[in-house]
Amino acid sequence: MKLTPRHIDEIRKLLQGRVLTDVPLSRFTSFRIGGPADLVAEPDRVETLAELLRYLHEEKIPRIILGSGTNVLFRDEGVRGVVVRTGSLTGLDVHANGSDDAAVRAAAGQPFPVVISKACKEGWSGLEELWGIPGSFGGAVATNAGAGGISVADRLISLKLLTDRGEELVLGRDDLEYGYRSLRLPADAVVVEGIARLRRGDRDAIESALEAARARRRGRQPSDRPSAGCVFKNPSPENPAGAIIDRLGFKGMTVGGAQVSPLHANFIVNLGNARARDVLELIETVRRTVKEKENIDLELEIRVMGGGRS
Ligand SMILES: Cc1cc2nc3c(=O)[nH]c(=O)nc-3n(C[C@H](O)[C@H](O)[C@H](O)COP(=O)(O)OP(=O)(O)OC[C@H]3O[C@@H](n4cnc5c(N)ncnc54)[C@H](O)[C@@H]3O)c2cc1C
Repeated sequence: MKLTPRHIDEIRKLLQGRVLTDVPLSRFTSFRIGGPADLVAEPDRVETLAELLRYLHEEKIPRIILGSGTNVLFRDEGVRGVVVRTGSLTGLDVHANGSDDAAVRAAAGQPFPVVISKACKEGWSGLEELWGIPGSFGGAVATNAGAGGISVADRLISLKLLTDRGEELVLGRDDLEYGYRSLRLPADAVVVEGIARLRRGDRDAIESALEAARARRRGRQPSDRPSAGCVFKNPSPENPAGAIIDRLGFKGMTVGGAQVSPLHANFIVNLGNARARDVLELIETVRRTVKEKENIDLELEIRVMGGGRS
């Protein structure tokens, strides 16, 4: 269903004005790329999000959930329908269960780096390998973000979700199906909160794990140009996508304003005026060549959304 002025009015009332119309999505992504969305909504309470989801479901209006936009490429055509941002759904606390165990509870829009640093500062271990992953807690859960050999799902105790009808659903660890950079959620469900397990850590050990995580990134990832992190999943830990793309000579290759990073071949960076179609053309060129030369099908890690299909 197409978004009409009546829908826009009703959503504006429901969200007490926390909406923007016809706004470029480049504003909301780390890639700084993306055409306009009909409407961007940013609920500040879970109850309002539930009402919004119910309304969009009943009116058959398409919607996309967006955390901090650090893992997405929106097409130049933008999004017909509603982009729901979770950035105002914040909340974070750590509960000790005795002296050795704790649980950190974070809301979907809470910045993930803040979740990690709070746990570490309070002397709780479990998340330090994930230091350096940008984005929201909800986005980290939905993409099962990982680094240093672990992923977010490895630490989860439970998740609170909203279904597409705005109903609450709680999943325990045993209900979760996850793999490398993927977590299977019930269709169209939205993560609103998660609880992760921590254990008492030695402060020096936590600090050296954080330093190791910083060292893994320092000088190895382009931090001076907009990007969306690694473009492709690694075919295997022994054969990372970046090494394959590097040995095929793609570092520095440019299409329009998009470039395969000269520093890390699995990053595509925005030189300033890249369009989504430039990035997609680079992706296709890399994929085709990797298939031809190494017979490997590279799978996307970034999520391409908007335009005709999401
Ligand atoms: C410089 C850089 C370094 C990075 N390093 C890493 C790394 O080391 N490891 C790694 O795994 N990733 C990395 N990333 C990618 C990215 O930061 C992570 O995937 C991050 O967890 C995404 O969070 P986000 O809030 O930005 O999600 P978004 O980009 O906003 O969304 C990503 C996907 O999750 C969905 N989503 C978001 N929030 C919710 C929610 N609440 N409920 C349901 N679905 C939701 C969206 O619909 C979308 O499909 C990096 C990115 C950059 C730019």
